[in-house]
Amino acid sequence: MKVLKVDHIGVAVNSIEEAKKLYTDILGLPHMGSETVAEQKVTTAFFPVGDTEVELLESTAPDGPIAKFIEGNKGRGGVQHIAFRVENIEEALAELKAKGIALIDEKPRIGAGGCKIAFLHPKATYGVLVELSERQD
Ligand code: ZN
Repeated sequence: MKVLKVDHIGVAVNSIEEAKKLYTDILGLPHMGSETVAEQKVTTAFFPVGDTEVELLESTAPDGPIAKFIEGNKGRGGVQHIAFRVENIEEALAELKAKGIALIDEKPRIGAGGCKIAFLHPKATYGVLVELSERQD
């Protein structure tokens, strides 16, 4: 498999509206728009930083994965996942599976921006939730 770069860092927040002021007004980053991914019960907002991006994640439902993450983090947000961009996500998943790496998603799903994404299980990645992402450029 070929990992090309850190695609983005996913940060869970209680409110994108509130948190985006830090990224735009204070840090001076552009806000590249927000998008709700209904299947994952999340609204995302991307802020490019050099060759990578910060992805803010706000839950759209109390039982969504981001709401559960924040609940488990004493109500505070925090870094929720790191995404690596890969050249070919199907190949990467097949290779990881063959090497015994536990996967949350055995097949890619469609995430924000129409990317193909898949999550590895944190038990296989030293506690870090790792997302693989392949852009449909
Ligand atoms: Zn992500």
